[in-house]
Amino acid sequence: MKDLRYFTLNDGHKAPSFGIGVYTLTPEEAEKAVYEALMMGIRHIDTANAYFNEKAVGRAIKKSGISREEIFLTTKLWPTQYQEAGKAIEDTLSRLDTPYIDLLLLHQPYGDYMAAYSSMCEAVKEGKVKSIGLSNFDEANFKKFLEIADHFDIKPAVLQIECHPYYPQEKIIREISKYGTLLESWYPFGHGDKALLNEPILKGIGNKYGKKPAQVILRWLIQRNIFVFPASRNPEHIKENFEIFDFELSDDDMKEISKLDKNTRYFYMAPEEASKMFLSWNCDFNKQE
Ligand code: NAD
Repeated sequence: MKDLRYFTLNDGHKAPSFGIGVYTLTPEEAEKAVYEALMMGIRHIDTANAYFNEKAVGRAIKKSGISREEIFLTTKLWPTQYQEAGKAIEDTLSRLDTPYIDLLLLHQPYGDYMAAYSSMCEAVKEGKVKSIGLSNFDEANFKKFLEIADHFDIKPAVLQIECHPYYPQEKIIREISKYGTLLESWYPFGHGDKALLNEPILKGIGNKYGKKPAQVILRWLIQRNIFVFPASRNPEHIKENFEIFDFELSDDDMKEISKLDKNTRYFYMAPEEASKMFLSWNCDFNKQE
């Protein structure tokens, strides 16, 4: 069985293929979930300025006693921070209570994202950030970004977007792979959608291996070289989600799951509306527990 625990990024850094996400978790919930995850051996955490739980994630890392080098920590800059991204990166480091961030993403393709990317490249040179990438860029935005960003010697290591059996993102994977950019999946379970988690195809395949549909989805994503970091407040689910390295889906299983493609996503906001809303969000990310 091929060991898929780590993927290698286009800048040479290695990153655990599986982690825990903390979107919609309160600081208290995030601190607890990240601590539990670290105690179980999970070594990849996905947060963001906009989740308002970076301080809690930092506390959980400190409390775990695990050396910082063993953990892969991702966070994301919010568009209101792009124009003064240098300061935003300093503030983010301070909230996370860490000397460096493993992976820093532009959370959204709105506002002055080129200025922010330039600051992120600087931060890599200064050792404050190891790898950089993008989130929520569609194919057109990604291509446009690569054209304008041609002069930057650092290409995005990852693209983090919605990806699950109902929306497998085949086309954009082919596009980003030209740059060695890897996909990261958000909403692998459709944000906990019961219909997706009860799909008969996933249940049938799971039964062959003694696995749940959620585990089949994660394994299907990882076998496509896609990073996963499902969120959960429930230690049983966190443990279950991590138990995906002791079985392997066959080519036929992979093809069968591909049949679930409905070309539908759970989240969509028109770009004009998103841009207006995200850029007018006047919030102080330092104000969090
Ligand atoms: P998800 O699809 O991972 O669903 C999480 C939900 O599924 C949980 O809240 C829980 O209700 C349920 N769940 C978890 N484990 C389960 C299990 N084993 N069995 C049954 N139900 C289970 O959605 P998500 O958490 O929103 O997305 C994953 C991560 O992706 C987020 O935490 C965040 O880090 C990232 N994300 C990024 C963006 C972005 O804009 N870049 C957007 C959304 C999410």
